This record gives sequence, structure tokens and C-alpha cells, in this order.
Amino acid sequence: MGLFLKKKGVNILICPVVIQYTVMIKEIRTVEFVVLPTSKAKARKMFQIAGACRYVWNHFREKNLADYQAFRNGKGQRPQTSFFSLALEFTKLRHETDWLRELPANPVKRTLKYFADALEEAMKGKKGFSKPKSRAKATPSFTIARDSGTFKIKKRNNKYSLLYIPKIGWVEITRRGGNPWEKGTPKQIVLRHDGHRWRAFVFYEVEVEKRPYDGAVLGVDMNVRQIATSDGHSYSLPDLEKKEKRRKWYQRKMARQVKGSSRRKDTKRKLAKVSRKIANIRKDWIHQTTKEIAEKCGTVIVEDLKVKNMTASAKGTIENPGKNVKQKAGLNRAMLDTAFGGIRKNLEYKCGRLVKVNPAHTSQTCSECGHVDKENRKTQARFLCVNCGFAYNADTNAAMNIRRLGMAQLHGEGSGISTVPMNREIDTRLPYG
Ligand SMILES: [Zn+2]
Repeated sequence: MGLFLKKKGVNILICPVVIQYTVMIKEIRTVEFVVLPTSKAKARKMFQIAGACRYVWNHFREKNLADYQAFRNGKGQRPQTSFFSLALEFTKLRHETDWLRELPANPVKRTLKYFADALEEAMKGKKGFSKPKSRAKATPSFTIARDSGTFKIKKRNNKYSLLYIPKIGWVEITRRGGNPWEKGTPKQIVLRHDGHRWRAFVFYEVEVEKRPYDGAVLGVDMNVRQIATSDGHSYSLPDLEKKEKRRKWYQRKMARQVKGSSRRKDTKRKLAKVSRKIANIRKDWIHQTTKEIAEKCGTVIVEDLKVKNMTASAKGTIENPGKNVKQKAGLNRAMLDTAFGGIRKNLEYKCGRLVKVNPAHTSQTCSECGHVDKENRKTQARFLCVNCGFAYNADTNAAMNIRRLGMAQLHGEGSGISTVPMNREIDTRLPYG
């Protein structure tokens, strides 16, 4: 496209040149593998490491509890919460404990990183003091950080890879569809037993192309079982009612059965199976939906729900028990159902830019005339403006409001918007609980 300017008889051709360049950024991608059955000795050792993590967690918890309470009551010094100081103490403990010495230091010590974070949160009053991890309830898991070649991954063929775990040796891992990030640098690995088998979550640092800002912006309204976008689409979670009923049934059955009995174990296994199926369906849905949304836009605007805080605060603390605990617990469970955290994380890296806006009144505001009224929301599904008569799907209306708020934020603050950080610190939380 060219444009001629005629000025004093001179023809000047102004040709807008679009310089296309790509920016590469470093990000973390998690790849989930299944650990194939190994020898009994290796399997036993993996459980031992997970057990040691639990032991160390409980040991340090007990050690710090009194100090924490004294500090909270204003009668003591602030306990050391840094991973560094805890790690020094761990080295001492490991020296004195024979069985701990036989296990690799790195993954067991890594538990204290999580503990240090939990302690810091508790110290700030954001959360209560961490609970002890019980053998029956805690999911066996451990983390290996790549400090000095502690773990290795080797590709064997398109289907299988080999993973080296310190003091255990090589185990075979596999993933359906192969490893999409095999060229990345593995930074950390989380091994977790899902009640059926071990899974390995490898955190790869990868170079990805930063998606150029294409101007397409969508507002996204997340609901208990569906996501609505401001372009009028909505994505519903597949019907899980049957499976959830079955899960509840197994839970009740298990509660009635004698602890330690073989029948109870059998029920527990079946319960784990159905729970796994539900989790997988949800996971697939999140991947599908976020992929479809990302194909349409490079910027998504979401509500800044402090989902975590909302779920944590319902129960309250001992000093300050929460109100409407029962009601909120139901809502929270439903909220967690759609795993907002997972959706957001996926949107963030698939779209490239995520903007958060204050969620106040987004569901009661008319996206057409801006009238805010509780009466606008006659039912859960329908929106009908009492001022201008605008009628629409309630979630889509909310998504449109979210988009409008986000656009205002984008224009108002120019480039200073909160976007995806260029180089994130390794996020050791897994997207799915
Ligand atoms: Zn209106």
C-alpha cells in the first residue's frame, strides 16, 4: 500500500514498512510422563524417598511450631524461614540419621524449599501453620532440582526415554505422543505416585517465540462448569455427573468399611480410578478450550479472582473461624472443579498476554448501556437490563464487561500493563492438583 503526497510539484512516496521480527523468550513447560514399572527394589526406594520427604517435613514442622507460636504471640524472635538456613540444619540431621544417609540428599532436601515457602506464608499471616503430612493421606511425591547433574534424561526412541534418579538408577519413562519439548533444558523434576503408578513431571526451560501483538482481545468469564468468551462462545465442561456420583458412592462406601480390611482397599483402588478419570477429562477439556481461545486472540482478559484466598479463607483459622463454612465449602469445591488456576496458566502461555481486571459488578453491569443493577440478573443464565432492555446470555454479557475493563486498562496504562513475565522463575506447582 502506498500513498502519494503532492507538495510543490514533488512526488513523495510514503510506503509503510512493516518490520517483522520475532522475539524469543524463555519459559517453563511441564511435560508429564508415566514411569514404567521397574524392579521391586527401585520402586521401594522411590516410596522410601517420598517417605523421607514426609518425615523431614514433619520433623521441621514440629521443630518450628513452638517458635512460630511464640513469634505470633509476640514473645519471641522471628524463626529462620530461608531455605538456606533450613538446608544447613538438614545436613546436620542427615549426618545423625543412618537411614536418611542412604537416600539421595537432593530430593529430600528439596522438601524444605516447599516448607520454607509455607513457613514464610504462615509468618506473614497469609496462611495457617502447615499441617503434618500423614502416611495415609499425603500423596507420595518428591522433587529433584537440577543443581549439579542430579538427574539425567536420555531419549531412547520416539516412544521411550530414560530417566536417571540419584541412588536409584535408570527408569524408563514414556508419554503418549512423544516429548514435545525434548530440545529444552530440564530444570526440575517432580515424581508423584497417583495411587496407580508413578508419574514424572519434567520442567523444561524452553525458548518460545513471543507471539506478536495482533490486536485481537477476548474477555473471558470463568464459571463453575463453563467458560464464556466475549465473542459469544461458551465452552462447557463435559458432563461428569455420573462419574461424580460414582465417586461419592465409593467415598461413602469406604467410610463404612473397616480400616485396613481388604474390601476397603479394593474400594479405595476403585475410588482412585474414577477420580483419575474425572481429573483426566477435566485436564483434556482445559487443554482443548484454552487452545481454541488462543487461536482466536493474543490477549485474554480475565477476572482477578483470588481463587486461592477465597478457598483458604472459608475455613478460617482457629482464632477466626470462617462464616458460612458449609455454604462456602460447597461453592469452593465447585469452583475448584473447573480448576481456574489451570485454565489461567494455560491461557497465559498459549495466548501470550493475560490481563487481570477487578471483577466487581461484571455480572450485574449491562454491557450495552453500563447500567449496574442486581435486578439485571434475573436468573443465573439470562441477563436482562432493567434500564435499556438489553437481553443476553449472562456469562457472555459478563465476558463483554471484562473485555471492556481490560481494554480500558490496556489503553490507560500504555505499555505498563501486567503481562506475562519474560523470564519466570521456575514454578514448582503443578497446574493440576
Ligand atoms: Zn442496559
